[in-house]
Amino acid sequence: MSTETQELTSMQDLVSLCKQRGFLFQSSEIYGGVNACWDYGPLGVELKLNIKDSWWRAMTLRDDVEGLDASILMHPRTWEASGHVEGFVDPLVDCKTCKGRFRADKLDHAACGKKPSLKPGAHGECELTEPRQFNLMFKTNMGPIEDSSSVVYLRPETAQGIFVNFLNVQQSMRQKVPFGIAQIGKAFRNEITPGNFIFRTREFEQMEMQYFVRPGTDRDHFEKWKAVRHQWHLDNGLRAHKIRFHEHGPKELAHYALAAFDIEYEFPIGWQEIEGIHNRSDFDLRRHQEFSSKKMEYFDETTKERYLPYVIETSVGCDRALLAVLCDAYRIEGERTVLKLAKHLAPYKAAVLPLMKKPELLELTDKVETLLRKKMKITRDESGTIGKRYRRQDEIGTPACITIDYDGLADGTVTVRDRDTMAQERVSVDQLLGYLARND
Ligand code: ATP
Repeated sequence: MSTETQELTSMQDLVSLCKQRGFLFQSSEIYGGVNACWDYGPLGVELKLNIKDSWWRAMTLRDDVEGLDASILMHPRTWEASGHVEGFVDPLVDCKTCKGRFRADKLDHAACGKKPSLKPGAHGECELTEPRQFNLMFKTNMGPIEDSSSVVYLRPETAQGIFVNFLNVQQSMRQKVPFGIAQIGKAFRNEITPGNFIFRTREFEQMEMQYFVRPGTDRDHFEKWKAVRHQWHLDNGLRAHKIRFHEHGPKELAHYALAAFDIEYEFPIGWQEIEGIHNRSDFDLRRHQEFSSKKMEYFDETTKERYLPYVIETSVGCDRALLAVLCDAYRIEGERTVLKLAKHLAPYKAAVLPLMKKPELLELTDKVETLLRKKMKITRDESGTIGKRYRRQDEIGTPACITIDYDGLADGTVTVRDRDTMAQERVSVDQLLGYLARND
């Protein structure tokens, strides 16, 4: 067997694996699919929950960060204050010839509908319209009457739910600046050019944390959070040489930002943002104070000062982080495809495999299964040769395969095969939980 290792080179290979093995399906597939929306299947939802859990733990298992779950629909004034009604726009151009629709600022990465090897506008046959500004927020109406007074928006980011609750959280939890608020939730953007699988979708989930600090200390906190967030991606298994920081230059900075760094991952489509770390100054609290006419200031009881804190924001797309994890884990090693997922992220922690469907082996298999199920998500597979079953588990990233054979009936042991090294070790059933935990 050849041992040559290949990494993921085409997103399409990952899309196929994800569909076949129950990670992700195109939304409403039986109706031809809906563009830019995806459904997480049984293994995808486990992986996603594990990513959210790892983020939640990293961000909230500390006494200076509180959690929040704000609603998706907010008062429409929120989005005027935040600047989204006016400024959350992308420049849209249409091609009069190929009828394609593109983001004017991303033409370099786009392909003409008629001649995909060419960039839109780069050849005579493609005639582009002048760019017009297109607002990315989805609008809907609240209540039975559809008029301008009932317009509400599906939130395009989770952050504003945190800003409007800043004082509620600070006062109810008796927090002192510096402290943060963390939230995981859905966001919606009517993207002009969604695509590249779950990289850019119109409905996605964000994991955001806003850290409120005293003005003047913002630079230090910014540097600290940059390091914390970089480490989180490494802890999820992303290889160091596949992630880097990209600093926003003056032209890239959002209207609210004093400084911004993206964490980028090298996808098969090139280096792309997976997370943004922003110094938002006091922009958001100041604007909400102005638009709501409610004081948003923090009162420092020690110094007796009132001030609007600055905000350091860390904002990562759950789906995009998950895509990076999948891309990074994907390998073809000789005959096998393997997802080298970090163990804490793997959908199943172990697979229980009786060597044959013989009653005495199944009895011991039941015992092992019951023992493990209480502690972790596992699967059981009885069909096909043991080699095929190992391959099936490799492909979905299961770190350990536990085979129950005849030797085990005599001495109470099982064989544990490691996904990455393929090494096999005999382990006593009594020691199994400890053995699997040790390999976490
Ligand atoms: P981009 O430049 O890719 O449109 P952005 O700079 O607008 O992204 P932010 O507003 O900073 O992104 O959002 C924070 C994070 O949310 C991004 O780093 C990304 O992980 C995620 N995200 C943003 N838009 C989408 C989307 N359409 N689909 C999936 N994830 C997204």
